[in-house]
Amino acid sequence: MTHRLDDIEDKILAGQRLSGEDGARLFRQANPLQLSTWASLVRFRLHPERRVTYVVGRVINYTNVCWVQCKFCNFYRLPGQEGGYVLSQEVVFEKIRELVNLGGTEILIQGGLNPALKLEYYENLFRAIKGTFAVQIHGLSPVEIIYLAKISQLSERDCLARLQAAGLDSIPGAGAEILVEAVREQIAPYKNSAAAWLDLMRTAHRLGIGSSVTMMYGSVESVEQRVEHLLRVRELQDETGGFRAFIPWSFQPEGTHLGDVKRASGFDYLRTVAVSRLLLDNVPNLQSSWLTQGPKLGQIALQYGVNDMGSTILEENVVSKESVFMVPLAEIERLITDAGFVPARRNTTYEILPLPSAPVNHSAA
Ligand code: SF4
Repeated sequence: MTHRLDDIEDKILAGQRLSGEDGARLFRQANPLQLSTWASLVRFRLHPERRVTYVVGRVINYTNVCWVQCKFCNFYRLPGQEGGYVLSQEVVFEKIRELVNLGGTEILIQGGLNPALKLEYYENLFRAIKGTFAVQIHGLSPVEIIYLAKISQLSERDCLARLQAAGLDSIPGAGAEILVEAVREQIAPYKNSAAAWLDLMRTAHRLGIGSSVTMMYGSVESVEQRVEHLLRVRELQDETGGFRAFIPWSFQPEGTHLGDVKRASGFDYLRTVAVSRLLLDNVPNLQSSWLTQGPKLGQIALQYGVNDMGSTILEENVVSKESVFMVPLAEIERLITDAGFVPARRNTTYEILPLPSAPVNHSAA
């Protein structure tokens, strides 16, 4: 059965905003060629040059102690449980030193909700990092900051302002999962609400702290709930303009409490990427999640609206140990070039950086 999507195509060609109903029809009815064509059209409107950016960064999971018990997470240890850790400043510094030696500029500091770590821990750590290294701190997801404010008996605004003063540059959009209460209740019942996640981002953006925003799809949500997530992001972006990038990634069921859920397919990823590009007309960058999808699918996504390859991850624990793809920096550049684009290095705030004059040892990245 052929579905007519002429009315949606007309809107895309005219640069008009799509509705939620349009988004659901695209998810259900558009074929790969349509999605690629339309998403690329919007991508090139926003980024006329054939550049695909990436940042040389490193994830530092400073603690795996967490009480939240998200059903999709196989990273955490409960407080007091064997195997829980908090990285010492010495270990954190060693990791940053390795990154800086590779020409890196971004550290993504993320961890569990560890009741033992109060605001002073983060302030001291961030100040020490900023006093020692020329890196940008892209750190602490909303759920961590909401909890930190609570246990530090501060408003979220005051907590964010103190983190910002200590050196926090940007907030990763993790923990958004699907910003629909019915979904969150099923997959992460103890986590903050969708409204609380959005409120925290609103406050951060108003303080001048930009962020990314993610969507973890492919667990228990419906197409309509994916669309609702996208619309809620778009609505807040209309208000604040603080989201720099959108990053959809698929739920990785292995080793989690939702192990029976079938892993989302490759085409589902491409469809989700393309519909995101089409609905989120106000979020400038769409990031590939090759970390979870693999480098080949991450590369194909460049034809579905993606304009950024994200970070050259040195390590990542929170997603799922089984699903981590380690790709050297030189390989990222090759994937971009091979897809017909020009690789460009950026920093956390998406400013293009000059390529290093001296050759960097890419093999370890
Ligand atoms: S996803 Fe984050 S908040 Fe949820 S259990 Fe894992 S570490 Fe804790």
